[in-house]
Amino acid sequence: MALVFTGKQMQTEHRRVAETVRERKQMQSEPICAYLHNLDALRKVTESRVKVLPGFCKLFYAIKANSEEAILRALAPIVHGFEVASLGEIKKVRQVSADIPILFGGPGKTEAELEGALQHDVHLIHAESMHELNKLNAIAGSHNKKVSVLLRINLKGPLPQAKLAMGGRPTQFGIEEEQLPQAMEQIKALPNLQVEGFHFHSLSNNLDAEAHAELVRYYCTLARRWAETYGLTLRYVNAGGGLGVNYAELEQQFDWNHFVGRLDSLVKEAVSPGLMIYFECGRYVTAATGYYAAEVLDIKRNHGKCYIVVRGGTHHFRLPSSWQHSHPFEVIPVEEWPHPYERPSLNQEMASVVGQLCTPKDVLAQDVQLERVRAGDILLFPYAGAYGWAISHHDFLSHPHPEHIYLESGTEAGGDV
Ligand SMILES: *Cc1c(COP(=O)(O)O)cnc(C)c1O
Repeated sequence: MALVFTGKQMQTEHRRVAETVRERKQMQSEPICAYLHNLDALRKVTESRVKVLPGFCKLFYAIKANSEEAILRALAPIVHGFEVASLGEIKKVRQVSADIPILFGGPGKTEAELEGALQHDVHLIHAESMHELNKLNAIAGSHNKKVSVLLRINLKGPLPQAKLAMGGRPTQFGIEEEQLPQAMEQIKALPNLQVEGFHFHSLSNNLDAEAHAELVRYYCTLARRWAETYGLTLRYVNAGGGLGVNYAELEQQFDWNHFVGRLDSLVKEAVSPGLMIYFECGRYVTAATGYYAAEVLDIKRNHGKCYIVVRGGTHHFRLPSSWQHSHPFEVIPVEEWPHPYERPSLNQEMASVVGQLCTPKDVLAQDVQLERVRAGDILLFPYAGAYGWAISHHDFLSHPHPEHIYLESGTEAGGDV
């Protein structure tokens, strides 16, 4: 399978990763199983995106997509701040930077988490419910603090189609749009809170840059209307994350330049003076520069189907199974076969790629047409840098963890996580 990477620079960066995998293979006899993250490419790509954003927009990184320390350290000087969803994530951020702005969202925040948020001086708290506002008001009062909040709103919809919808339908997220008048009335009695705007994170993996810009404009229009109705000074609209990655057609990715152009025209018209728009993207920031590499252990046929069994599986890389897709991959051929026994192989055949777990759900790619694959070759899965290792059930079956390799300015630093 040929992988297509847009832009010459990204192709060079991709080849560098494949080359690192090949070198590793020559250095070790154990089967290869590793995550590789090209930190140089991550920095370059993120810098180039941030640079073209209009002045009224800021990019935060939603760290749940990949909260490894090396990633946070690479991004901290580039993005405006980090979005977190737990006290654990707040602590991870504070280990990397004492003062980078933090946005704290997510349902079911405990008292300890809200206390922790105040101690660690988070920039804004996204309130998910009336109860959470009451709780935060009490905690803020006991610290003699006035705390800035954005209200997370679950809109009525209909909203654009997306793979995952957090709003526009019943979910556990945010305050329902219909309940806003009542909530605003109740907030008047909470003296330790300052509502500075609204937060929307309605969908995930949107690939359509034009539709996303229209959605952001819609958020701004609503927020302005509400600010007028309730007499608020509107300082922030947080338009969430949800910029998508196209795993099916790698050459057709979310068009950042088009999106930014529309922010500067379409969205700008709906932005009042002094209003900042925040984006808190996860997948779109770290997916493209991360890879999962897994060596082929066996190739077998069973009830008329062919299976490629790799070192690793969905306990390392759960993304394909959680999204129910076949993840794209490239075959890195390895010529050496030092064993006295026969080398399993396939030629011009349809096969599924599976891992080492004892469950038929351990599938990374289903029924893909392949040229040639042999045991000892390595499969390299691109776009694995977000929601890969971070969402996987690492210790199911107690296999070893993959190696984590960070490619950075000519040096390759490895380490177990
Ligand atoms: C997960 C999440 C994000 C990031 O979403 P992506 O789809 O990875 O961009 C942003 N905001 C909130 C509230 C989230 O839960």
